[in-house]
Amino acid sequence: MKLIKKEGNLLYIKCMVCDKEFTVKIEDCFVTSEGYELNKKVKCPDCNQEDFHIVDYGKVLKAFDEYEEDSKRKIQDKITSANAPIKCPKCKCTQLTSNSRDFSVGKAVGGLALAGTVGLLGGFIGNKKIIITCLKCGYHWKAGK
Ligand SMILES: [Zn+2]
Ligand SMILES: [Zn+2]
Repeated sequence: MKLIKKEGNLLYIKCMVCDKEFTVKIEDCFVTSEGYELNKKVKCPDCNQEDFHIVDYGKVLKAFDEYEEDSKRKIQDKITSANAPIKCPKCKCTQLTSNSRDFSVGKAVGGLALAGTVGLLGGFIGNKKIIITCLKCGYHWKAGK
């Protein structure tokens, strides 16, 4: 059954089979994440379709929106961290160099670090080992680590 509206102690619902509108008492239901669930089966007065579930599409869509917001934020976080300048893990300075002419240290390496975390690094740089060296303290490490 589909929820149309809630009014007083009544739920206005609609049969999903024949679209007949009728009401059930709210005390016969309990709230679920998708709407309501009836304690005992309700029968459509028109087509005799029986159902326990009352789906509140407004609620389902809202839950979906929140999920979308959450994943959007996670993607945004990933982009932000990928664009953050790479720092020397030892002295935190950002004056770095790499042994590869193909990759400039900075945003490209940030992208590599991100790719490495999701397991794409191997395919992305082949067998080449990119070593990043700190110009300040001399510490060096492999890109993507
Ligand atoms: Zn019906
Ligand atoms: Zn350093």
